[in-house]
Amino acid sequence: MLKKIVIAIDGPAGSGKSTAAKNIAQKLGFTYLDTGAMYRAITFLALRSGIVDNISAVIDLAREIDLKLKFENGVTRVFVNDEEVTKEIRSAEVNAKVSDISRIPEVRAELVKMQKKLGSEGNIVAEGRDVTTVVFPDADLKVFLTASIDVRTKRRLREFQDKNISISYDEVQENLEKRDRIDSGRKVSPLRKAEDAIEFDNSALTPEQDLDFLILKIKDVLNKNNNESLGNMVNEQQSD
Ligand code: C5P
Repeated sequence: MLKKIVIAIDGPAGSGKSTAAKNIAQKLGFTYLDTGAMYRAITFLALRSGIVDNISAVIDLAREIDLKLKFENGVTRVFVNDEEVTKEIRSAEVNAKVSDISRIPEVRAELVKMQKKLGSEGNIVAEGRDVTTVVFPDADLKVFLTASIDVRTKRRLREFQDKNISISYDEVQENLEKRDRIDSGRKVSPLRKAEDAIEFDNSALTPEQDLDFLILKIKDVLNKNNNESLGNMVNEQQSD
């Protein structure tokens, strides 16, 4: 029987994890799991309900929330209690608060439970801050993606500009650095490179070059697992 595989990608904000994960998922027909979107959805709801600074209310929210992610045509649509919040979770207000919410251990426990369940079907590519270390420690391929702070800031700035949101380079950089500091410094599941992860700096690469590199690594894993059908699929797609 074919072994279903799990690919896990961690890295700081703006390192290109979501682009890489989406591209891999689309190329191989895998499920894409954007774990950051889940922390963002809880943060958005907590902000809207005015409870963002009340830790026990945020924990209750995380325990009660009905959270759904739908990956369609290269876009992850996010629903909370059947309301779509895809756009709202990317706001500057959510960016400013999400790292404070995601350092709450009980919130993480709830979300990690959901993520493991979503991943149990296999043939999934997950990205976040702890997917290589905590959520899928036995993933078939683990990648730690990085890029320079300047490149990461420019990427995020472009995303805001594309949405006609006015924000300065300095503001974006400040938010990225602050989130890096909180995400890497927290006690529970800090952002760090798993020992057996491949570290990969894509500062000078296009998303296409990034994808080519990762597809090569996936092929290695598939060959090692003798996963012929999936291996052939990757080969066919490579020659497109
Ligand atoms: O990846 P994204 O920028 O959407 O993640 C938003 C925030 O969610 C991160 O800065 C981090 O605080 C939190 N996060 C996390 N663990 C994950 C994914 C995201 O703590 N696995």
